[in-house]
Amino acid sequence: MKRVLNFYPGPAALPVEVLEEARDEMLDWNNTGMSVMEISHRSKEYEEIHNGTQELLKKLFNMPDNFKVLLLQGGASLQFAMVPMNLLKEGETADYIVTGRFSNNAYKNAKKIANVNLAASTEEDGKYFRIPKLEEIKVSKEARYVHLTSNNTIFGTQWKSFPDYSPVPLVADMSSDILSRKIDFKPFGLIYAGAQKNLGPAGVTVVIIREDLIENSRDDLPDMLSYKTLAGKNSLFNTPSCFGIYMMHKVLKWVDSKGGLDFIEKQNEEKANIIYGLIDKYPEFFVSKVEKESRSYMNVSFRLPDEELEKKFLEEAQNNGIIGLKGHRSVGGIRISMYNANGVKEVKILAEFMEDFYKKNG
Ligand SMILES: *Cc1c(COP(=O)(O)O)cnc(C)c1O
Repeated sequence: MKRVLNFYPGPAALPVEVLEEARDEMLDWNNTGMSVMEISHRSKEYEEIHNGTQELLKKLFNMPDNFKVLLLQGGASLQFAMVPMNLLKEGETADYIVTGRFSNNAYKNAKKIANVNLAASTEEDGKYFRIPKLEEIKVSKEARYVHLTSNNTIFGTQWKSFPDYSPVPLVADMSSDILSRKIDFKPFGLIYAGAQKNLGPAGVTVVIIREDLIENSRDDLPDMLSYKTLAGKNSLFNTPSCFGIYMMHKVLKWVDSKGGLDFIEKQNEEKANIIYGLIDKYPEFFVSKVEKESRSYMNVSFRLPDEELEKKFLEEAQNNGIIGLKGHRSVGGIRISMYNANGVKEVKILAEFMEDFYKKNG
């Protein structure tokens, strides 16, 4: 058996130790004589994983006590609707900062529910290559929250620090960089993420929400769309994605065993320095339009001098066991997604391949 070097944008590579552990437990998990997929979500055994996942996430983030972790379904995309449905009452409004495709989706979905404002957009000709400067962001007086996307998966930009509009809370879609670095929770009221990039398999959506926002949220919503109901039932109003949460629990334990976010943050910086180092060394060959201060440490997107070379790059990478490097169709070119499960070792192998490709074709 040969594992590939996987740089897919999501679903994405998982730590091999986690996969091996899950494999070993598949037929008899925790001396139950069953897999975790075959046991009640109301059982004591499952409950330990469910609560353990929430607690471990709180510990890794050093999260303030007044935040709750919800383990939901429907992906980050359902949160595009649930956030405004829950946090905005009749006639209330919120502000959106649009820096990419997903944040534009969040904005467009919120517009169907409420009369929301566009506080800033970095769109140019349908593309987004930067994070706005603070002075460009026009937050309205009445905003109940300000929404942003911490990492723009498709274009490869990332907020390096976050604005603080307290007491107006930030709401952030962190799907593609959650758990990639430490966060100061102070400006945030709600953080959400689909699990399939840095946390585990698809099927789990994490919502981290401040308790007062739950308390003040609308209470006339259908149960499955209501933070109040879902939080009140500890995310067990209905059957959760038990297997997904079990896998996420293992990923969190893996992060913890590596040294937590101190280790992860350093590793991600080192990986980014390796790849951006090459882009800066050969800027005419690895052509990046992303503004330097906005560079994402998770997704690196660039073009080669022509499309023939891009095709050749992807083919030769694949022949070398390196996959998942095709850019999103709206940007083209190459995209490297290097989430936590790909360490410095894996990124160095990719960098060697890139430099070698440059020497032969540049
Ligand atoms: C992948 C991604 C999404 C979409 O997530 P789903 O779980 O598929 O709904 C949303 N936002 C960002 C920033 C993403 O990277």
